[in-house]
Amino acid sequence: MASEELRPGEVAVDAAVTVDQNVQFIGSIRTPFSTRSECPRQGDTENGPICRLEILPHWQPALKGLERFEAADVLYWLHTARRDLVLQSPKSDGRVIGTFALRSPVRPNPIGLSRVAVLGVDGGAVLVRGLDCLDGTPLLDLKPEHCPFTDLPKNTPVKP
Ligand code: SAM
Repeated sequence: MASEELRPGEVAVDAAVTVDQNVQFIGSIRTPFSTRSECPRQGDTENGPICRLEILPHWQPALKGLERFEAADVLYWLHTARRDLVLQSPKSDGRVIGTFALRSPVRPNPIGLSRVAVLGVDGGAVLVRGLDCLDGTPLLDLKPEHCPFTDLPKNTPVKP
């Protein structure tokens, strides 16, 4: 199916971008997946392939401390996805579902989110397992699964 074709029941809108808050990419993701059909629907942190998050040089200092974490959330820009569908038929079987009720890459801002296993930091790259995206997918952000600074013991007084 050509990327701009609609399936039965699908609805597209005129999704001209009206607001741009200048999202910046912090690097790119190297995976073994060169076509969308090779990508899994969701990553597998146990058995998926090892992937590399290659961080741009000026953001590499921001990796300091990440090696202490076993898991992180990766946000990425699903850059080849169309962005104008409000209703989708993911299985092309006549059933139609709203974009916000799906984890489809097709959405107004095609952000992917995966919880990955952090295997290590290799200079300016992070080795992870659990991704489902194309090789070369732009990287938006990386966050540890929890932040030590928010894990305050219960009953810790909160300053006004
Ligand atoms: N795990 C993420 C999430 O839940 O937000 C993404 C899930 S999405 C269903 C994963 C699918 O997006 C892949 O199976 C592939 O078909 C597609 N995909 C992967 N990389 C992409 C890219 N760079 N641009 C567009 N589609 C992509």
